[in-house]
Amino acid sequence: MKTIGLIGGMSWESTAHYYRVLNQQTAHIRGGLHSAPVIVHSLDFAPIAAMQSAGDWDGAGRQLALAARQLEDAGAEVIGLATNTMHLVADAITQAISVPFVHIADPTSDALLADGFDTVGLLGTRFTMEMGFYRDRLADRGLTALVPDVDRTNLNAIIYEELCRGIVSEPSRKIYVAAIERLAARGAQAVILGCTEITMLIDDSVSALPVYDTTDLHAKALVAAALA
Ligand code: GLU
Repeated sequence: MKTIGLIGGMSWESTAHYYRVLNQQTAHIRGGLHSAPVIVHSLDFAPIAAMQSAGDWDGAGRQLALAARQLEDAGAEVIGLATNTMHLVADAITQAISVPFVHIADPTSDALLADGFDTVGLLGTRFTMEMGFYRDRLADRGLTALVPDVDRTNLNAIIYEELCRGIVSEPSRKIYVAAIERLAARGAQAVILGCTEITMLIDDSVSALPVYDTTDLHAKALVAAALA
C-alpha cells in the first residue's frame, strides 16, 4: 500500500475524522491489524482562514503547495487536501507535486452518478457555495448543483464559529436540516456535505435527502488510490 499524504488542519476537527476513516477503511479492506500508512501535514488554520477572508488565494495556494511538496519529499505517494474550500487552489498544489492528487469533488461525483442522480444540493462554506470552482467541477461531470438561496451567511458562520471549533449544537443542526428541505423542494435529489465538518452535524437520519459526505468519500478514495 502506498503512503498517503494528507494536508490537514482546516480544520483539525475534520482532519481527525479523516484519520479515523483512512484507518478504518484500510482495516476493512486489508483485514487484521492493517492500518493506513499516512503522513498528516496539519497546518495552523488561523492564518489560512485570514487569507480566505482577505481573498488572498494566491498566498494560500503557495502555502498549500509548499505543504504538498513537503509531504512528497517526506515519502507521500498520493496526496489529499482535507477541505473542500481550499480545493479552490488545487491547481497550485498539483503543479507543485509529481505524485497523484485525489480531488475531493471526484469521488463525490462518482458516488452521485453511480446512484443515478443529476441534480444535487451543495452545502459548504460561502466560498464553496458561491465561487463556482466546486460547482464547475461537478458540472464537468454532468451534475447540476443547487446552493441555498437563503441563509448562506448563517450556514457559513456555523462552520467557522462552531464546527471548526468542535461545537455541535441542536439549533444549528435544525438550520442545516431546514436548508436541505428547501433544496429538496427546489428539485435536489441528494445533498453534498461539501464541507468536511458538516458530517459532525448531519447524517441520513436527519436529512430529507440522501447524504453524500465528502469527508467519508474522499478518505475512502485516498485509500483506494493508495491500494491501486
Ligand atoms: N473544512 C471546510 C471545507 O471543507 C471549511 C474550512 C475551510 O475553509 O477550509 O470547506
